Amino acid sequence: DSQEVTGRILTALAVLEATAAEHEEAFGRLDAIAGDGDHGQGMAYGTRGALAAARDAAEAGAGARTVLLRAGDAWAEEAGGTSGALWGAALTAAGSVFDDAAGAGPEEAVAALVAGIDAIVRLGGAAPGDKTMVDAALPFRETLLAEFETSSDLVGATKKAAAVAREAAEATAEITARRGRSKVLGDKSLGTPDPGALSFSVLMAALGEHLAQ
Ligand code: ADP
Ligand code: MG
Ligand code: MG
Repeated sequence: DSQEVTGRILTALAVLEATAAEHEEAFGRLDAIAGDGDHGQGMAYGTRGALAAARDAAEAGAGARTVLLRAGDAWAEEAGGTSGALWGAALTAAGSVFDDAAGAGPEEAVAALVAGIDAIVRLGGAAPGDKTMVDAALPFRETLLAEFETSSDLVGATKKAAAVAREAAEATAEITARRGRSKVLGDKSLGTPDPGALSFSVLMAALGEHLAQ
């Protein structure tokens, strides 16, 4: 039922929060090479704010759609920065897949992930090869849909997609940044993966692990 869906969303957000906190320093160090070094803090603050807002909303009786909307607003606000705005929009778009009062299953979970990624692409306007999180998110999206279509296995599809996203994120090391803050520093990013692409793949891998339990 709808309360169970809300509970699953809260657990998923808690996984993202714990994962971002665990990798805060690593994400920050990565962003410091060619960017401004705040990506670890942005992800930690964003996920923490999203989880807190989601818990508040759920406690006040909100359903899945509203919980994710509130979480998305809080993520953007608490994180600041480009990636925070994009992740915030992603959560809000993911929420639009759900009904406050209805149940949901694996199909909706896949649709929510896809809607979130589509929002990132729409709002950020980055193309593949621009050295952004889109370079990890689009391969994730493609693999998730293909795997889920053949297996109907949400856990397996998410794990496979996260593994593909991780490889794609690491491959961004070979790209010179054209978009995002690091563009002003040009070739400095060569040899280093995009922080937002890497954090995306790390968070999705954690989500896959969580779903498996
Ligand atoms: P800021 O760049 O404002 O300091 P962060 O350091 O938190 O924000 O996030 C940087 C990440 O944001 C980049 O590594 C990249 O993945 C992502 N990013 C930046 N611009 C875009 C964009 N237009 N579309 C998608 N992702 C983007
Ligand atoms: Mg930054
Ligand atoms: Mg910044």
